Amino acid sequence: MFCPQCKTEYRDGFSTCSDCGESLVASLPEDPDTQFVDYEEIMRTYNPADIAIIKSILDAENITYYFQGEHLVLRPMGDAAKLMVAKQDAENVRELISDLNFSYTETSARTEENNEKNNGENDE
Ligand SMILES: [Zn+2]
Repeated sequence: MFCPQCKTEYRDGFSTCSDCGESLVASLPEDPDTQFVDYEEIMRTYNPADIAIIKSILDAENITYYFQGEHLVLRPMGDAAKLMVAKQDAENVRELISDLNFSYTETSARTEENNEKNNGENDE
């Protein structure tokens, strides 16, 4: 059981949240923001060690991501794994991994064609 207000999980037998007094629900409603996540490719790597490092960083930052084709990396002549993150986190993730020096990594070119909101982040 979950409190819809503070998202606290309760064991069976509870019916209201002790903090908020809200009636508990069997499952939390899906966050509408997470229903249609637009993923963006951040980088590619052939190195499973890189993938492990990136995973630990992104897990620590609570970033939603996945590696496309991760299992292919382990095969000879396999494809690179692509790191995909939600568009709203893309800038943040590039920042996070920019300090790392990966030997088998190509950073994908930034696609800026769809710049609908120019909120004054000019690098000039
Ligand atoms: Zn609550």
